[in-house]
Amino acid sequence: MNYREFIHPEDEAALRNLEAVPGFDTVARFILEHFTEDMMHGLYMAQNVRLSPSQLPEIFNLLPPICGKFEIELPEFYLTMDPRPNAWTIGDKRKFIVLTSGLLDHIADKDELQSIIAHECGHIVCRHVLYNTIAMLLVKFGESLGFGRIVIAPILLAIKYWQRRSELSADRASAVYTGGHEVPCRALLRICGGPDNLTKNINLPEYAEQAKAYDALVAKSKWNKLLQNMAIMDADHPFAAVRVRELLSWAGSEQFAKLKQAMSAAEVLPMCRKCGRRIAADAKFCRYCGNNLKGEK
Ligand SMILES: [Zn+2]
Ligand SMILES: [Zn+2]
Repeated sequence: MNYREFIHPEDEAALRNLEAVPGFDTVARFILEHFTEDMMHGLYMAQNVRLSPSQLPEIFNLLPPICGKFEIELPEFYLTMDPRPNAWTIGDKRKFIVLTSGLLDHIADKDELQSIIAHECGHIVCRHVLYNTIAMLLVKFGESLGFGRIVIAPILLAIKYWQRRSELSADRASAVYTGGHEVPCRALLRICGGPDNLTKNINLPEYAEQAKAYDALVAKSKWNKLLQNMAIMDADHPFAAVRVRELLSWAGSEQFAKLKQAMSAAEVLPMCRKCGRRIAADAKFCRYCGNNLKGEK
């Protein structure tokens, strides 16, 4: 799937603004030179549980079909101990999707987990991962890398502004994969902290109306706008009501209907779960890594 077919226009616009921020180029290049994916791979390997066909396969097995539909290589997939429900994707050439234990505690079923993994794969399709990684490293190591706060502050603000917009594109990917806005919205409400017995009955259109009320409040005065901008400027995700509203309105569009149809009709070659490459439907062994495919497809 080509990201241009579903990228949110605010994501594209914010990315152009980010790349125009003075110093962004230099900071991004510096980080890329000093950060190695091997280091990150080592950290993840040593600290977290790497999911595989034989390690928590009930979670891992959801990933390859999603990568197949989106036509992306299989990223490394990890589970980390953190009670806060969250998922993220980082890396550059080599990519890592991470789920927290809190996320798995909160989600209600396999459909919701699939929609969250599809959202993360959406970040890969939309080429968000590199800049997300830069954002994460800037936050974590910005000062120790020797940049003064003053130098990186405007870059951080612009990157966080873009990150919030980028979430809207990844939400769209999740809606295309799951065939509608319902499951991603449900998963979204769950991540906000709502247990199933509460969130399953939430009236989504009414919840989306809250985003409209919020926009009206912000538009009322410059002071309101300033206060609200200050309230969200450090966040890397948009408000949940805004995400639900955007998903609801996009899921009713012609663009969504076309993509949904194309995705369900797409023929996908099976993927080797060891190396992540495409293999012939009747192959018994992976021609790239020699993996025995019996029982995998
Ligand atoms: Zn995301
Ligand atoms: Zn293989």
